[in-house]
Amino acid sequence: MATRIGFNPHVTALPAYNAGLNLAVAQRISGRDDIARLASNENPDGCSPEVLAALAPAVVEPWRYADPACAALREALGAHLGIAPDCIVAGNGSEEMIAAVSRAVLQPGQEVLTVVPSFGLHEIEPLAVGARVTKVAMTADLDFDLDALVAALAWAPRLFMLSSPWNPVGPALSREALMRLVGAMSPDTLLVFDEAYFEYADGSDVPDVIALLSGAGVRFVVLRTFSKAYGLAGLRVGYAACSDAELAAALSKAKTPFNVNAAAQAAAMAALQDQAWMKASVARTRVERERVAVALRAMGFAPARSQTNFLFFDCGRSSTQVAEGLLHEGIIVKPWREPGYEQFLRVTIGHAGDNDRFLAALHRLTA
Ligand SMILES: *Cc1c(COP(=O)(O)O)cnc(C)c1O
Repeated sequence: MATRIGFNPHVTALPAYNAGLNLAVAQRISGRDDIARLASNENPDGCSPEVLAALAPAVVEPWRYADPACAALREALGAHLGIAPDCIVAGNGSEEMIAAVSRAVLQPGQEVLTVVPSFGLHEIEPLAVGARVTKVAMTADLDFDLDALVAALAWAPRLFMLSSPWNPVGPALSREALMRLVGAMSPDTLLVFDEAYFEYADGSDVPDVIALLSGAGVRFVVLRTFSKAYGLAGLRVGYAACSDAELAAALSKAKTPFNVNAAAQAAAMAALQDQAWMKASVARTRVERERVAVALRAMGFAPARSQTNFLFFDCGRSSTQVAEGLLHEGIIVKPWREPGYEQFLRVTIGHAGDNDRFLAALHRLTA
């Protein structure tokens, strides 16, 4: 007889994470080997050659447990950011730190404020611990709705979690906008500011958020990752830069002990040291981002302004259907699925050849 096991209702009720399509599936459906992978915001340039050297078998010892504290990496990050290493927690991707902050701070029934369209985990991880999530919609011109966010902050949510630059939309909060939101925050609200695309932001009005928030006396968790501009998505390493050591200690308790593996720690150290590689890659992506945005506008689309490595736009019909058409041509993109945004498509900026394939196929499918 089968045993009866109960599941945690908070977990069984979770929405599924909308992950990019698997390569093998795309190859089978399209009958092509050369898939243009424009769905998951990966770096088409790969990663620094210094990273590959750091992963050499003579350097990484798979049979040893890695340092559970990631001391060397946190030391290097502290020097890089100008903050104390004991305010930093390394994670198995910054995703793990979204889960850790939710576990460390939230209790069932407490309120979380975020935005919509949203990065799935900003909603999923709070829901998994039984919190309630309120989402403020973007404006008609595809930007943060500051007035609505200020109004919602008056209810003193336990967490205010958002990404800036904003996945999936693209814009970053300016210094003035961020200070306005911070001014509206209750002392009971913890700000979780996800900067996964921080390296791609190029506006001179995009502030040094860690310095700005530290100066404002706010308690915060800033999330950064090696998955995007540094090109280490497959190794899983990111980090939380916290306002204070007490907060960092709470996050550390909420993570698994050996969360960042030895290869990932070595790779992240090497990637951080090769700033020149990362900056050159970001510069190439920005040029392509502008070129693709111009081409989309010429086709009559209106992509949101982007400080990231992707573009987000209303394709005027079901984006799931457009994505299916693109898939048959060997191009993977991300159709948005949240209610009210089903006509929006997010396309990662790849190399010029892949971007051209995307533009040509989109034109055929929508003209
Ligand atoms: C890609 C992304 C991350 C990064 O996740 P990792 O776990 O570090 O790979 C985090 N937040 C947002 C908003 C992202 O788009």
